[in-house]
Amino acid sequence: MRHFNGNIIFKQKGRQGLFLFLDFDGTLSRLVADPDRARLLPGLKNILKKLARHPHIRIMIISGRSLADVRKRFGINNLIYAGNHGFEIYFKKRYLLRKGKKYRAIVSRASSLLKKQLRDIPGVIVEPKGLSVAVHFRNTPYSYLAVIKKTVEVISKSTGIKNKLALTTGKKIFELRPHKNWNKGFAVRWVWQKMAPKACPIFIGDDVTDEDAFEALKKDGMTIRVGKKQKSAALYYIKQTEDVVKTLSQIAQLFFNQISKN
Ligand SMILES: [Mg+2]
Repeated sequence: MRHFNGNIIFKQKGRQGLFLFLDFDGTLSRLVADPDRARLLPGLKNILKKLARHPHIRIMIISGRSLADVRKRFGINNLIYAGNHGFEIYFKKRYLLRKGKKYRAIVSRASSLLKKQLRDIPGVIVEPKGLSVAVHFRNTPYSYLAVIKKTVEVISKSTGIKNKLALTTGKKIFELRPHKNWNKGFAVRWVWQKMAPKACPIFIGDDVTDEDAFEALKKDGMTIRVGKKQKSAALYYIKQTEDVVKTLSQIAQLFFNQISKN
């Protein structure tokens, strides 16, 4: 993993344009105690608007949050939005993809079980998101971790849920989501190929679920992790969330320089 210092060469042979894939929490917003209070980094909205107007730049925001939740945090029309780790993808007032509808009932059942069984644990937030359910424990004393983990594991293996929903983890979060061959990696490749296969794909993310995308774009694009991590599949890292705005301007600058040379 190399530090991204704004001095890279795109794998641009035969490529036209950029396709930016951006995670939300921990990437475009700082991680906060209450996920509902997450805000875009200062200066970010402007740069995203500016980049998204360029005819050779596409931008997709891809998050584990529900689609509605992601969309309301940006309110920029010409971005592509992907919620629930890419199970729902939306662009200009229509769905490009809606996968896993049949899981809604199962997720809703799992959500009720989680709420009921975790209600006495301080600080836990159970967040049903339609196609997945998150258990946040950022505000919970560490001593409760084992019991939360056990509860989520037992529910994930219970009748009707086992083999239907998969248990995954991330930063201070457990999630149950459709046990299906679909994740951020499949989603970014699908959108990239569908909308702008000639563009150079770039992915920026910070967490476990982003590793699928780092892996999926390893050969074709550029991948950047927020925070250095030895075992990450990303090519580059930047030190912290606050560096993302600068990184995006550097990428834009490199791209525009390259266009002007050609
Ligand atoms: Mg994240």
